[in-house]
Amino acid sequence: MSARRTDNVQNNTKGLTKPYPKANVLTRKGRLLSLLWAFRSIWMEETDSGMPIKAVIFDLDGTITEPYFDFDAIREEIGINRNGGPILEAMESMTLEQRTRAEAILHFHEEKAVSESALNPGAKDTLEGLRQRGIRIGILTRNRKCNALAVAEKHRLCFDAVVGREDGPAKPNAFGVLHLCERFAVQPAETMLVGDYLFDLLCARSAGAIPVLIANHDRAPEFAHHADFTVQTLHELLPIVDNHNGVHGPVA
Ligand SMILES: [Mg+2]
Repeated sequence: MSARRTDNVQNNTKGLTKPYPKANVLTRKGRLLSLLWAFRSIWMEETDSGMPIKAVIFDLDGTITEPYFDFDAIREEIGINRNGGPILEAMESMTLEQRTRAEAILHFHEEKAVSESALNPGAKDTLEGLRQRGIRIGILTRNRKCNALAVAEKHRLCFDAVVGREDGPAKPNAFGVLHLCERFAVQPAETMLVGDYLFDLLCARSAGAIPVLIANHDRAPEFAHHADFTVQTLHELLPIVDNHNGVHGPVA
């Protein structure tokens, strides 16, 4: 399996190897790290909820669809400093006039992203596989809900529920995960959140869900330590779910 537990050295899933560094080549620092990893491994074994995955929540852009947005260019068009932080948060401190203009620019780019969207490899098959297994499928996006629904329609995808930025506090706030879990009547610990950005992982962690990073871009290594699993493509997700749930393929 090419998917790996993100801490590089251990996979807490039963049956997989734990490639600890070889003791005879360890430096002092390496021995310390090895010890820490060993403690962490024990801790994760003890704290693993063992609860089956009953829901998977996906980010939209960069996760279900190929990465599209050039946020630096959008910031520049809106007039936000390149280092001015996330666009939605920057808009909160704008005057009404500035904000109205910024929203119009954002909406233009978001709608263009829908019309030009392409699915990430494995997206359709993964969603269908989850549905066959009876696992609920949610979308949690900082985009508007209407754009997520438009992506679903364009690519003939089926989501069980969508939470957009108009529904409540946006990621990295835990609101969206908790809201979807309540909607699906599942616990956060029974839920995976798959995303390509730091906010996806922080949001999942904050809610008590399982963060999964899709590492299909250059910044992924910056975020990987916040994820429980890192995958290169969505093709790797179903085996992780099946392994976690102790099943082999769809549940009859
Ligand atoms: Mg994303």
